[in-house]
Amino acid sequence: MIYEYHCRKCQEVFSVQMSLAEHDRGDLICPRCQSRDVDQRMTGFFAQTPRKAA
Ligand SMILES: [Zn+2]
Repeated sequence: MIYEYHCRKCQEVFSVQMSLAEHDRGDLICPRCQSRDVDQRMTGFFAQTPRKAA
């Protein structure tokens, strides 16, 4: 899985490839400023689910 993050401190946007277990730990820092103040961004995975035509 590839997750995309946005650093609130330096505004860096970066992608990180990691397992679901690693993601669940939430142990992530910005590669640019080493801050932990990062937000996960929507990567589009959820939007790609096909809808059923009721
Ligand atoms: Zn940063």
